[in-house]
Amino acid sequence: MSAALLPGATGEDGRPITLGVMGGGQLGRMFVQAAQEMGYVTVVLDPDAASPAGAVAHHHIRAGYLDEQGLAQLMQRSSAITTEFENVPAAALLTLGAQRPVAPGADAVAVCQDRDAEKRHFRASGVPCAPWALIETAEQLATVADELLPGILKTARLGYDGKGQVRVADRAALAAAWDELGRVPCVLEKMLPLALELSVIVARAADGTLVHFPVQQNLHRDGILAVTQVPAPEVSEALRQQAVQCAQAVAQSLRYVGVLCVEFFVLQDGTLVANEMAPRPHNSGHYSIDACDQSQFDLQVRTLAGLPLAAPRLHSCAVMLNLLGDLWFDAQGTERTPPWAQVLALPGAHLHLYGKAGARPGRKMGHLTITAADAATARAVALQAAALLGLPAF
Ligand code: ATP
Ligand code: MG
Repeated sequence: MSAALLPGATGEDGRPITLGVMGGGQLGRMFVQAAQEMGYVTVVLDPDAASPAGAVAHHHIRAGYLDEQGLAQLMQRSSAITTEFENVPAAALLTLGAQRPVAPGADAVAVCQDRDAEKRHFRASGVPCAPWALIETAEQLATVADELLPGILKTARLGYDGKGQVRVADRAALAAAWDELGRVPCVLEKMLPLALELSVIVARAADGTLVHFPVQQNLHRDGILAVTQVPAPEVSEALRQQAVQCAQAVAQSLRYVGVLCVEFFVLQDGTLVANEMAPRPHNSGHYSIDACDQSQFDLQVRTLAGLPLAAPRLHSCAVMLNLLGDLWFDAQGTERTPPWAQVLALPGAHLHLYGKAGARPGRKMGHLTITAADAATARAVALQAAALLGLPAF
């Protein structure tokens, strides 16, 4: 990327510098909010009239990700373009990238979109991951190694929040699961004995500057992130360093520009294994808005605009609770508003709702970050918040 796109400046076409984002979900919304705070004009492309990011951006182009007219409009309005959603077709990013700076680039996003390519990239970067096999044909299914069972069959593409995954105990279950998933290309991963889960978010600039957030410890429920704690309470300093080094290696070997999250498993024997990566800010980094001097979205803005990257600093300990649509229903299944007044009476409570109209079980409606001067307090207050909301303790 060439000269920085300075906020509030005017582009060659005489119009204000405008940052565009493909995808209008909550990640796009928080990107737009960070960009606006710095003075950028923003534009979102998303087909949904009620998209969380479309509702806050200066401009919302309502079109599909492969709609030529929509892409042309996005290109025309934007000085640079990013994506909030790894399932944005890489072809669309290629089209855009031919005319405008696009970060992350189509090639990096394409690797993250395909679980087989992603794992090959981990291995090529010297980062260990779960043993796996690609299953695209009935023959590959039949000849899969015994040591991969019991395992998890995951669609190679388009999975998120544990969707497109089936746990399989034996070969019969594997064959049935592949049928259930429509015989699309899949990876079979060995089921690993997890002790805990971590993630590391890095930001890399076009000039190679690489900064990172502290290691996050994540708790998933039903395949969906439920709780993130920072600093990671159960992780040694050596393991933290190893996780950061792995994430940096992955970003560097992709020549990545933008914000990248690498998710890890820590196995019961203490081994670190990469799970997957996301070419964008990540749910496990939302705490950074309230607990760091620069959030993951601020760094996404900076990498996209070609601004300098300074290492973010954690100024508070934090616990983030994801707020899923389930909280909008009482035990009888009647719709309710969660008890925000009580939750907001807690010290260090930061509520973020994404402006989604319809609450549904499992739908990410918002998150709550509890910040405190020390980890014990953050955790104790977060447990109080969880109890008020009817969430399980952690
Ligand atoms: P997201 O995109 O929301 O992170 P996803 O749908 O891509 O989720 P994964 O991260 O692959 O799904 O898996 C979801 C969860 O399932 C993991 O966080 C972990 O708890 C569990 N899991 C996945 N793979 C394995 C494995 N090989 N062994 C044990 N547990 C696993
Ligand atoms: Mg995951």
